[in-house]
Amino acid sequence: MLFSRNIINIYNNVVKTNHYNLEVAVEITYKKAETLKNRPEGSALGFGTFFTDHMFNMDYNPQDGWHNPRIEPYGPIAMDPSSMVLHYGQAIFEGLKAYRTDSGEIQLFRPKDNLQRLNFSADKLCIPAFDETFVLDALLQLLRIDKDWVPSAPGTSLYIRPTIIATDPYIGLRSSNTFRFFIILSPVGAYYPEGFNPVKIWVTKEYVRAVRGGVGQAKTAGNYAASLYATSLAYKDGYTQVLWLDGVEQKYIEEVGTMNIFFCIGDELITPELNRSILAGVTRDSVIKLAKSWGVKVVERQLSIDEVFEAHEKGLLKEVFGSGTAAIISPVGKIKFDGKEITVGDGNVGPFSAKLFNDLMDIQYGKSDDPFHWIMPVK
Ligand SMILES: *Cc1c(COP(=O)(O)O)cnc(C)c1O
Repeated sequence: MLFSRNIINIYNNVVKTNHYNLEVAVEITYKKAETLKNRPEGSALGFGTFFTDHMFNMDYNPQDGWHNPRIEPYGPIAMDPSSMVLHYGQAIFEGLKAYRTDSGEIQLFRPKDNLQRLNFSADKLCIPAFDETFVLDALLQLLRIDKDWVPSAPGTSLYIRPTIIATDPYIGLRSSNTFRFFIILSPVGAYYPEGFNPVKIWVTKEYVRAVRGGVGQAKTAGNYAASLYATSLAYKDGYTQVLWLDGVEQKYIEEVGTMNIFFCIGDELITPELNRSILAGVTRDSVIKLAKSWGVKVVERQLSIDEVFEAHEKGLLKEVFGSGTAAIISPVGKIKFDGKEITVGDGNVGPFSAKLFNDLMDIQYGKSDDPFHWIMPVK
């Protein structure tokens, strides 16, 4: 917010005239990495282990606001062991991807929605807001610099992780006065290298990830720490994800792992309504808009786990899938709850999940039209 005035002015001018092509010299300092890394092969990528040559950094203090935006070599952040983020988890993040099209161009999928959500999370965690237009331009600059890192093998992409952490060296409990904003980039492999297969999910009444009035709707570090224990129990039982129920009655479905969840019951597509403990996924919103455009009846409402099992008993439960940036669509084949396991449909990927997966991928990789204007080219 508190950038030097001329930057904001530059911005205002550009935004008015040239929404998607911010070709302006913004005062972000750039220090080039002295040696560039060897880039891994597309087949060796996996998820989240490789990082590009550069990163974006910016600092906050009450006097200067967000200041000193800079693109620098990727590297460790020196910080005091008493830094508040290390003790109280005042940290928020985002996850989005850059995709390489068949013609070699690079494009982003709904990046403004992610930055808007980062500011939403910031508000919930008492972190000062940042200028979304400015950060988007910083991201575009970073992507131009590290463009060769956007992989081109089918299904691969460059995962983008904007993060804000509290940096006051202080171990009393209050909100930090200083923060670091950074963006790192990680080339990632195809999510389904062995094919688009359904996952087995595990429902628990014992553990919850978020509660009413808590921070479930924010992408904040603690939510993920809070999910680890139940996830480890699911693994031990042979399941790959936890289906989270609400934190008040342990009855209503919220999310699956770190994805939103959808149920095809009868001829309706049902997903839990955004009740303030659910994360409002960009993919969730994209699924809803796509499905509606196909004439599917989409219902956002409270849905209990009992209702899902009853629908299964009546033969009405056709498909279940998770939605999120990493996997796009993750079909669910089996659900275990209260000692009982059901198989969704015939246990294979359903046609609706497959169509959503393919259509979203086609938009993201520029293989089809972009009727909703979700794509932003990186030029
Ligand atoms: C990030 C996230 C999602 C999915 O959001 P997308 O914007 O679709 O990637 C869903 N649930 C949780 C808890 C998340 O952290």
